[in-house]
Amino acid sequence: MNTEHPKIFLHTCCAPCATASTLRLLKDDYDVVLFFSNSNIYPPEEYKKRLINARKLANILKVPLIADDYDHESWQKWVRGLENEPEQGKRCEKCFHYSLERTSKKAHELNIPFFTTTLTISPYKISPVIFRVGRQFPGFVDYNFKKKEGYKESIRLSREWDLYRQNYCGCEYSLRVEG
Ligand code: SF4
Repeated sequence: MNTEHPKIFLHTCCAPCATASTLRLLKDDYDVVLFFSNSNIYPPEEYKKRLINARKLANILKVPLIADDYDHESWQKWVRGLENEPEQGKRCEKCFHYSLERTSKKAHELNIPFFTTTLTISPYKISPVIFRVGRQFPGFVDYNFKKKEGYKESIRLSREWDLYRQNYCGCEYSLRVEG
């Protein structure tokens, strides 16, 4: 009898979003490996802060975490021309593409058959758009972590585990103050 749990690579945008998402995957009997791949984040100090907190969560949940290279310049080139797009627009779809393609490639390299992303837990992100992007890459599993009060649970757990919760999505364009 094969008692091994299937492995899944979880693209982790930040620690708070990974709380309830990881617990759900563990509950569904996956063997979870976190992948912190976020070249979109600006500035680098913010990137480091989010990575430190993702590592803290990995320790709490006793799951491995792999950090991708951070290359904000390459990400900027990737979204060039879309700087003035609103959040939830074309720039964000391209941003998902950037990180999810890297996640799929890395999963393949590590022989991990499945991957998904914490991005769907956020009420500010449109899950069908994330699914549309994710499905372009092999191994994608379309988990909608918003369901079953996922977002509410992520806030509760982040408070309980004292995880840093940022107040903007990640890139410099999401930092802009309107008005
Ligand atoms: S607002 Fe968020 S999802 Fe959209 S491009 Fe910036 S970092 Fe990516």
